[in-house]
Amino acid sequence: MSELTTSVEETPQDWLGHGGRGLTSNIVAAEVPPTCHPLGPNNKLVFAPGLLSGTVAANSGRLSAGAKSPLTGTIKESNSGGTAAQLLARCGCKALIIEGQPEEDKWYSLAVSPQGVTISEESELIGKGNFAVLETLAGRLEGKQGVLTIGPAGEMRLCSANISVKDPDGHLRSCGRGGLGAVMGSKKVKFISVDPQDGKVEVALPDDFKTANRAFAKALIDHPVSQTLGTYGTNVLINVINEAGGLPTKNFTSGQFEGHDKISGETMHDIIEERGGKPKHSCQAGCVIQCSQIYNDKDKQYKTSGFEYESIWAMGAGCCVDNLDDIAEADVLMDDIGIDTIETSVAIGVAMEAGVLEFGDGTGICRILKEDVAKGTALGRIIGNGAGSVGRAFGVTRVPVVKNQAIPAYDPRSVKGMAITYATSTMGGDHTVGYAVATNILNVGGSVDPLTKEGQVELSRNLQIATAAIDSTGMCLFIAFAALDDPACLPALIDLINARYDLSLTGDDVTNLGKSILKTEKGFNEAAGFNNADDRLPEFFYTEPLPPHNSVVDFSGEEIDSFWNF
Ligand code: SF4
Repeated sequence: MSELTTSVEETPQDWLGHGGRGLTSNIVAAEVPPTCHPLGPNNKLVFAPGLLSGTVAANSGRLSAGAKSPLTGTIKESNSGGTAAQLLARCGCKALIIEGQPEEDKWYSLAVSPQGVTISEESELIGKGNFAVLETLAGRLEGKQGVLTIGPAGEMRLCSANISVKDPDGHLRSCGRGGLGAVMGSKKVKFISVDPQDGKVEVALPDDFKTANRAFAKALIDHPVSQTLGTYGTNVLINVINEAGGLPTKNFTSGQFEGHDKISGETMHDIIEERGGKPKHSCQAGCVIQCSQIYNDKDKQYKTSGFEYESIWAMGAGCCVDNLDDIAEADVLMDDIGIDTIETSVAIGVAMEAGVLEFGDGTGICRILKEDVAKGTALGRIIGNGAGSVGRAFGVTRVPVVKNQAIPAYDPRSVKGMAITYATSTMGGDHTVGYAVATNILNVGGSVDPLTKEGQVELSRNLQIATAAIDSTGMCLFIAFAALDDPACLPALIDLINARYDLSLTGDDVTNLGKSILKTEKGFNEAAGFNNADDRLPEFFYTEPLPPHNSVVDFSGEEIDSFWNF
């Protein structure tokens, strides 16, 4: 972007076996100076489809985005559904690397096709929200092109800015976490279009691929958690986590929320049916689980989709809002502004504790999003820079962040496997990198008592290694439930990779891939100045017992650090 030039390069030999997170993290680790400013010209923004993206393999269309994060200062990978990964793969694109920074104060768009990338100056859409971008591009772009876009938050380079990805129905999904939208904004790229024309992904052994995909899809479809996700969406977790006493409520002061029923997946399902929405919907072609949905407003008009547990928990229990329509309104505003719903909602919870707004004031939240965050007032920028930023601005000590990234929807005092995941994640407070909830609460892949620390380090380690590998395939993380329980699932996934590339990988190869990705990411963070002292939770988790179990985090520093013994 410094010279406004593009080039197409062959994939270096060392990176041929990587995709998705494995590829973005390896490129960032190799090419980004770890101590660079995340919003300066030396950071690079990398997009990579997974190893199986662009094929018909079930649930394989996840796109990874990677860079040094302006929120955490660590390496970051954030992945999303939508159409872009499959379309990039069909362009023959293994990774798209955006580097440099324009000197002039102008904005640009990128157009990716099998012929390469072109850069055009953009003025019409600058300052516009994500929905206006999608609407305008629907008229401007020919055919069904993919779109990656940033909203005003990315343009303002706020640390919670996300990158939005168009889904097959023209709605939005997001690479939500870590402020990668701010990195895209720092490169002055407003949107990227992806036009595969008639490009296709070749599969080396089509018959083997077909057989493996049949077994893989069957394992996903048959798993009871997949079926529940298809009925109630991820929001089915509200009642489950509340029952377990791990639903962070009122800025992490309780593990249970009085209004849980009003915002639960079951209630949401009834509302969706009543208003003619769709309880079951896919964020990408080829998904056999379909955890997304179409949520209509009171007038039965489309309101939002991809209305996830994490967003509903954060704005709901976290801020004590028990009205799903208020939460849906806030969700739409955040999608349009282009900010991470977890980071922003947790930031608002901290602001509520500081007295900026009353807990439970859903209308007030929407007002602040519209009048402050979207417009970039001083308060809006403090909130838009995340929970840590609000804590510092208002002198709040209960700030639930690790490496400055907001902790998501499982209180680590009541779900202790998540304490290890949050503390040791190379990405800051993140649930997806090692979802110990599965085994702590859902009894998937065995059962470990969520209130004790026995076995949690090993559990989180195994999950983080497996997840790093899964994140490289382009698979949606919700394949993990079948992968943990069904002995046919993981071998079928490995067969898919082998048939796609004519390889003979084994389970050990996949485990080694996961280990090497984690070590590469940790190496980047160490070179950026992070050490074991950063792998800790905020003090209040060790000292403030959480009702109803009145439990605290009780891992010693040595116990946490033993995570890295592999
Ligand atoms: S299960 Fe949900 S997140 Fe995963 S691909 Fe399907 S709709 Fe998208």
